Amino acid sequence: MFRKKVIILCFVFFLLFSLALTKEKKIPFDGQQALSYIKDLASDTMKGRKSGQPGGEAGAEYIASRFKEWGLEPLTAEGSYFQDFTIEHRNVEEGVLFEIIAGNSRRNFYYGEDWRVQPYSGSGNFVAEIVFAGYGIHAPQKEYDDYAGVDIKGKWVLFSTDSPRRLEEKLKDEAKMDERIKAAQELGARGILAFRMADPQARQMDFAGMKKENYKQDFVFLSLENKIVDFIFKDLKTELRYLFQQIEETSKPVSFETGIKAFVSVSAIFDPKRPTRNVLAKISGVDKDLKNECVIIGAHMDHLGIDPLGEVMNGADDNASGTAVVMEIARIMRLAQFKPKRTVIFGLWAGEEQGFLGSKYYTEHPLFPVEKTLAYINMDMVGHGSGKVRFSGKYYGPTVWDVLKQRLPKQILDYVIEGRGGPGGSDHTPFLEKGIPGFGIMTEGYHFKYHREGDEIDLIKPEILKKTGDCVEQAVEILASEPGNFFPPRRQEMYHLKYQNLINFELPPLDEVIENHKDAKDSHVDLQLAIVTEKEGMIADELRIDILKTLLSGQEKIRESKGLSLYTSSNQFMGDIRQGKTTIMPGLRGINAFRDDPRWAEVLAKQGIYFVIVDNPSFLFAEKELSLEGKKIIEALSKSGLLLIVSSLESSQEKILLENTKKPLILLEKDLPDKEVLELIKKTKSALGLILSRGEEGAFYFTKLEEARKALGSEYLMIVNQECLWKEAGKEQMLDVISERLKVKFETGEVPNLFSATFLRVLGRARGEEPSRPFAFIPF
Ligand SMILES: [Zn+2]
Repeated sequence: MFRKKVIILCFVFFLLFSLALTKEKKIPFDGQQALSYIKDLASDTMKGRKSGQPGGEAGAEYIASRFKEWGLEPLTAEGSYFQDFTIEHRNVEEGVLFEIIAGNSRRNFYYGEDWRVQPYSGSGNFVAEIVFAGYGIHAPQKEYDDYAGVDIKGKWVLFSTDSPRRLEEKLKDEAKMDERIKAAQELGARGILAFRMADPQARQMDFAGMKKENYKQDFVFLSLENKIVDFIFKDLKTELRYLFQQIEETSKPVSFETGIKAFVSVSAIFDPKRPTRNVLAKISGVDKDLKNECVIIGAHMDHLGIDPLGEVMNGADDNASGTAVVMEIARIMRLAQFKPKRTVIFGLWAGEEQGFLGSKYYTEHPLFPVEKTLAYINMDMVGHGSGKVRFSGKYYGPTVWDVLKQRLPKQILDYVIEGRGGPGGSDHTPFLEKGIPGFGIMTEGYHFKYHREGDEIDLIKPEILKKTGDCVEQAVEILASEPGNFFPPRRQEMYHLKYQNLINFELPPLDEVIENHKDAKDSHVDLQLAIVTEKEGMIADELRIDILKTLLSGQEKIRESKGLSLYTSSNQFMGDIRQGKTTIMPGLRGINAFRDDPRWAEVLAKQGIYFVIVDNPSFLFAEKELSLEGKKIIEALSKSGLLLIVSSLESSQEKILLENTKKPLILLEKDLPDKEVLELIKKTKSALGLILSRGEEGAFYFTKLEEARKALGSEYLMIVNQECLWKEAGKEQMLDVISERLKVKFETGEVPNLFSATFLRVLGRARGEEPSRPFAFIPF
């Protein structure tokens, strides 16, 4: 008996003991530990951790060796912590010099303050003469050539990156930055000194439009502040603004050799395929089903390297802090033998500072299926600030956020500031684009050391690291074990539907829109067009008074509502989108309200009517021209600023209309119009609204849209839905279109054009709001 008891007792003890062993003991996040990783990462040996440079790669090695030491599992199939890839590497090496030499005097200028090396510049160490070359535009076939009559061989060309206003349209292609660079190179120049006239107060030494094809090993491309340009012109017998005024007035170049020289010493590196690596580790899930799903937390480990002045940019906060928090969470989870149901992945990305290159590479070459990745939580700059932690991304991951908000302990939620989130700023962006709910975490409180040499360890507070660490660690624990399905259908399409500034062209009456959507919050419909309806039987003044009444009371109700706002400008619109509001834009269907008295168009526009939509307005046309009435009305519309949207016109009528309008308008069509109409649309800066009909198949529509985009360009094209986007059918149809569009590669800006930017541009032009120009010409 006794022996039996002992055996049983031993067995019970054994059970308890092993239970105690397997039971996870929680290990707290150690802010001091995290701080120690930052000390290592922001130390002189890592030289600013620029990816592709030895210092950056040393950072990756450091993290991987800690992961190994702590016993984390590697993520790759080969059992490595590294995911290798190549990036385009550009660097301006330490030690740069620029001097202007006029006669016997030399003056040198500060790098970064007064001048800068531009992307894809080559290296050089030389003195050369400076030739003033206007805008640096070479278009002899169009009778404009800034290089005509001057010899630029072996010299600097000095030009403004703006364009001559009057020739802007004509020289559009030749004025592209890469074309200007190419011309200077082909004509034998040694280098470019570029500046911008626009706003001499602002620092604007970073230009866009250079391409890697522009890189020539010994061709130098610098940007200058106006200060240097003024210095060059100081002793010349002419005045810069006078020269540009002359070009403007005569449309003729005024280039000349200045007789002044410039010396440069620059070593700029461009390597199109430099090896680098992400660092990835995991803790495998233990649930037999859920382990096939994962939660990723990550941060970028790279920074800016050494700046051209030799200053090491240590990036303690940006982003050794985020890296350290990811590392410390990995360490304590491993130490506590944390056994998540779902797999937890730790990702440290390379090349963020050069455009999210590492995270982009990972989402293109995932090591865990994207469609099984529940969420991504990114940390960038989490070592400094007030003690509040910004946790952004709920609009794009509402299910995930709801769970977190319910389950995170109060003492954590007390210091969390939730945010709508969205792409941009850091590595959560490529995850979002794949449809993975991506959250961005940053501690609150801006410091002025951002991307400056002062981003050093003394900025970092361990207690702030701990706040982020506790919050993210808990969030991961929750998400890694919470039961339920976190994978809604069409996740990726849904992200793009939400992200695009979506216009609902289904045109309900204004009062109805307000009634139905006054409490809208974070809706995917960003701009709703609504019609101020005309009551039956009313005409002339009675009708107009009724319209104004309806409009004014509608405006009042919108102002009082929580979820709606009233369109006033594209700036207001963008601002209200960020607050999750739906903007309402009132318009009229038909022109009864001013047909008898076209001057009323102006009054209505002033009161807040933005567009007039007319279906088959045959009264506008006589044979082969506008009718007398048509002329008056088009004239009045042009003056008023009301945007005209017309549908169901014959192609001949469309031509007449486009030839006679002074303001751009929108043609609604179900199919692509003929070539002449397309040309007129471009010429008048109007737009084609390609109708997405009720019930039309998304794939079929997208084929037509693509045809139109190729023939017309997205700048003049927009999607016009008939089915209501608030309702399931309309939403699903749009998701079908998006699903097709995700299969095609678009240039930047093209997708926004199709969804809203084209419409807003045409509206702006119709209202006479010229887009702000980079070139502000100041006559004297
Ligand atoms: Zn950063």
